[in-house]
Amino acid sequence: MPFEEKISAAPPLPQAVNGEKVIIIGAGIAGLACGCYLQMNGIQAEILEASLLPGGLCTAWQRGPYVFDGCLRWLVGLKPPSAFHQVWTELGAIAGRKIFVHDEFLRLEGVGGQTVVVHSDLDKLARELKRIGPEDAGLIDKLIRDARRCASLEPPLENPLELMTPFEKMKTGLRYLPMVPTIFRYKNLPITAYLARYQNKFLREVLQLIVGNENMSALVLVMLLAFRTRDNTGFVAGGSWDFAMAIADRYARLGGTVRYKTRVTSVKVENNRASGVQCAGGTFIPAATVVSCADGHTTIFKMLEGRYVNKKIRYLYDHCQPFPAIIQVSLGIKKKFPDAPHTLNLPLPRPLRVDGETQLNRMEVETFGSESGFCPKGTTVMTVRVQTRHEVWIGLKKNDLVRYRAEKKRVVQEIITILDRRFPGLAEHIERTDIATPATFVRYTGNWQGSYEGWLPTPGILGRPIPYTLPGLKNFYMAGHWVVAGGGLPSAALAGRYAAQMICAQIGKTFAATTP
Ligand SMILES: Cc1cc2nc3c(=O)[nH]c(=O)nc-3n(C[C@H](O)[C@H](O)[C@H](O)COP(=O)(O)OP(=O)(O)OC[C@H]3O[C@@H](n4cnc5c(N)ncnc54)[C@H](O)[C@@H]3O)c2cc1C
Repeated sequence: MPFEEKISAAPPLPQAVNGEKVIIIGAGIAGLACGCYLQMNGIQAEILEASLLPGGLCTAWQRGPYVFDGCLRWLVGLKPPSAFHQVWTELGAIAGRKIFVHDEFLRLEGVGGQTVVVHSDLDKLARELKRIGPEDAGLIDKLIRDARRCASLEPPLENPLELMTPFEKMKTGLRYLPMVPTIFRYKNLPITAYLARYQNKFLREVLQLIVGNENMSALVLVMLLAFRTRDNTGFVAGGSWDFAMAIADRYARLGGTVRYKTRVTSVKVENNRASGVQCAGGTFIPAATVVSCADGHTTIFKMLEGRYVNKKIRYLYDHCQPFPAIIQVSLGIKKKFPDAPHTLNLPLPRPLRVDGETQLNRMEVETFGSESGFCPKGTTVMTVRVQTRHEVWIGLKKNDLVRYRAEKKRVVQEIITILDRRFPGLAEHIERTDIATPATFVRYTGNWQGSYEGWLPTPGILGRPIPYTLPGLKNFYMAGHWVVAGGGLPSAALAGRYAAQMICAQIGKTFAATTP
């Protein structure tokens, strides 16, 4: 069984497997990572990307002097000895960039004027939570203890579970043993059921807001606090664009190629083996192996017409819930807001109507000053992301462009009015506005239902492995946030690495990862 060896020497010249390349569909973080690791192992990769640029969801756009970041808010793996830090190092993603680890990762304001600071430091956090809910001190202590216990949870890099020998599985199991009881206690518990144990209403609200979605597993709360506590999670200067471009650059330096504006329409299969891909426009590209790092639903049910599914896959796509779609409103403001916290969650005096059925009583705003690299000195970028129903925006864009545009304007205006009340003078200094709807996310990345992070980590899915292969189909793998519940950049990159490890195993190569 192959195991990883770390080498820093120049990689061997990549070769095509059986005279053909590995074709990767999608130049998102998973596709780029998979390409990098294949090239490191001497396997020639070619990525086919539907859009004009690499990065997929990990992207940003320039509006005048402002950069509106469409993704990176917090990244896990900023410091050693984290496994994800090793992955980012191998991919050349963050080296030499300024990182910001905010002890205060969220500030919440209550309707009655209270303020709660959510600290990364668990001692400070415990004190803050007990200040607002002293009657729940016992539960708070237990939550903090459990988060601390899970802080050292790291994914295995030596081999993905699929390639582990029984002995390796046992060794990995032993490593996780101290955390197993905690994981099992929270994993199948819905966050709402867990929070119902707390007596203090505001504290319940605060903990729910830290997690976000009400359908998530309670384990998400524990893991969010655990990830933060090691100073291993934060923001990288230059944001999503620089991050994605650094990995694309690493891939190019390793000899990998990308064909942009190349949309794959189907995966060609001969004798139940993937043998290449058909692209829009009719081009056929042969492949020794195909790795789809594109949207999971499109891959399984369109590119492969649902021919390689079993009960588990059907259950996943029929019953499990993707992350709900969002709208992102970005503002470029010619004014500084020195008192604005990095991330602020505030109550709204009257509900914000996002679409016909979604009304919000709270809103979260992120503030970036010039140190982020997103705007010149003396200016600010503010970003608001709100949940919405994907079908509303996709339907409007398709059937009523005039109303689609009018609705976008209305949402931007309502958000500006809310922010202007909280930060007086904001509205008159706005230089640029921008809005991305679920229709935008679908158009640029093809993610199912406009999901921005794949599968929502609900009790039904969290911790259950999603296969990287499809039943009955050889020489084919999937990677990216549709094969890891909870998604995110680290999971996408790791999935790309795992797919490369599986391909190495398939052709009898010992997997090796290099650093730039
Ligand atoms: C607003 C927002 C905020 C986020 N915040 C964070 C955060 O703070 N931290 C974090 O870790 N993660 C965050 N994420 C999640 C993270 O961005 C994703 O989980 C991750 O980027 C997924 O990468 P991927 O490669 O799996 O998929 P994608 O990024 O979706 O890449 C898939 C690629 O495949 C291409 N493609 C699709 N169909 C085809 C086809 N038929 N032919 C060819 N190419 C195709 C697409 O164009 C795309 O480039 C955020 C995402 C969003 C949108």
